[in-house]
Amino acid sequence: MRAEFPDFRLGTVLATSFTGTLTERRGEPVERIPTPQRLVDWLAVNGLAVDSCTTAQLERARELRESIHAAATATAIQDALPASAVQVINDCSAQGRAAAILTPEGNRQWRLSSASCVEDALGVIAADAISIIAGERDGKLALCASPTCRAAFFDTSQSRTRKWCDMNTCGNRQKKARFNANQRKNPRSAE
Ligand SMILES: [Zn+2]
Repeated sequence: MRAEFPDFRLGTVLATSFTGTLTERRGEPVERIPTPQRLVDWLAVNGLAVDSCTTAQLERARELRESIHAAATATAIQDALPASAVQVINDCSAQGRAAAILTPEGNRQWRLSSASCVEDALGVIAADAISIIAGERDGKLALCASPTCRAAFFDTSQSRTRKWCDMNTCGNRQKKARFNANQRKNPRSAE
């Protein structure tokens, strides 16, 4: 029987979807890639399918994840980039040997140098992080307004005023909390 694992929070930006594999960092953290197999599953969902993953590769992936989180957070609050995080991101980017492939339908796919090369997949993620941290893409890094989350996310809204990393989770919870608080203040307003 397959154990139940926390589901993935998938976004449209690869690097911040990856940092979103650890949620509620300021509350009770939820690890969404607790085993090497779950990292394999996450990579497959994100177009970076690999055959297998070792414990050491999972550890490296988590190191990259936390480095991206630290660098993205620093960027969001306009702080200096932590040197150790920059080092890890750059090392992962340099080690990856994935190639961008154009499909006949005109889509981009990633081709890894071998089917077991988690390092190639991490290289793609690191390069994605570099492009958003360096401001190469249309959007702005911001921190989730939820006090138990504070995830760095990439705001591509026209007004750049998005408040939550994810509307369906943090956004909804915040709305509900506000609704309940209003109801307590004025119980009849709910009718
Ligand atoms: Zn959030």
